[in-house]
Amino acid sequence: PSTNFRFRRVLLKISGEALMGASSFGIDMNACANLARGVAAASQAGAEICLVIGGGNIFRGLAGAAQGMDRAQADHMGMLATVMNALAMQSALEQIGVPTRVQSAIPMPTVCEQFIRRKAIRHMEKGRIVIFAAGTGNPYFTTDTGAALRAAEMDCDAMLKGTQVDGVYSEDPKKNPEAVRYDQLDYQEVLARDLRVMDASAVSLLRDSDIPIVVFDLHEPGALNKVLTGEGVCTVIG
Ligand code: UDP
Repeated sequence: PSTNFRFRRVLLKISGEALMGASSFGIDMNACANLARGVAAASQAGAEICLVIGGGNIFRGLAGAAQGMDRAQADHMGMLATVMNALAMQSALEQIGVPTRVQSAIPMPTVCEQFIRRKAIRHMEKGRIVIFAAGTGNPYFTTDTGAALRAAEMDCDAMLKGTQVDGVYSEDPKKNPEAVRYDQLDYQEVLARDLRVMDASAVSLLRDSDIPIVVFDLHEPGALNKVLTGEGVCTVIG
């Protein structure tokens, strides 16, 4: 493929909620199919893509802890939720002919591969989409931090955060129509102004590894491809 990429090897982080579609819980295979089409197009253009999907559409550790569960135990449930999402996305991608591998940070040898960095890199070089499941494998972390960690380990050119809006705004654009979108921010600004792009540990990990964070609208058709070639509307934090 002769596509000129701004970012060629990327980690795409999607929240679990992106898999719900119009529902308020769980997995909607139509929503997965839509996401899969965007990923497939970028992969066919020659990008190397790995995915991290959250688990908030099924279970969040903090919600369990709020109901009296032990936090670490609840976080294990949250991580298992991300494995379900990873398997759903694997299914959606393979239905349209995209080769994939799921690698879990919590070993589950009868379900999927375990995370092995060198193997994951090899999969990506061969054009397979690697879906990293179970976050970091540790409680008290988020899938944002898991995504930042994997982006660094995979030596990605960028970590893409697909959201509901086309970038980072000065205020919530859904509440204040006057809010302005930033084209470019630096890590320090995001941390100091608490712009809530992703959690602070994820941002500082990416800063230390010099990996830009690209925030873009996941639901805009063709958005992923455009962001990868540098044409799309987004905010780049770097
Ligand atoms: N989680 C965890 N360690 C990790 C990643 C995730 O314990 O490294 C748990 C945590 O309970 C979290 C849940 O998995 O609430 C789902 O992940 P997250 O909330 O990041 O999902 P998202 O908001 O992106 O859908």
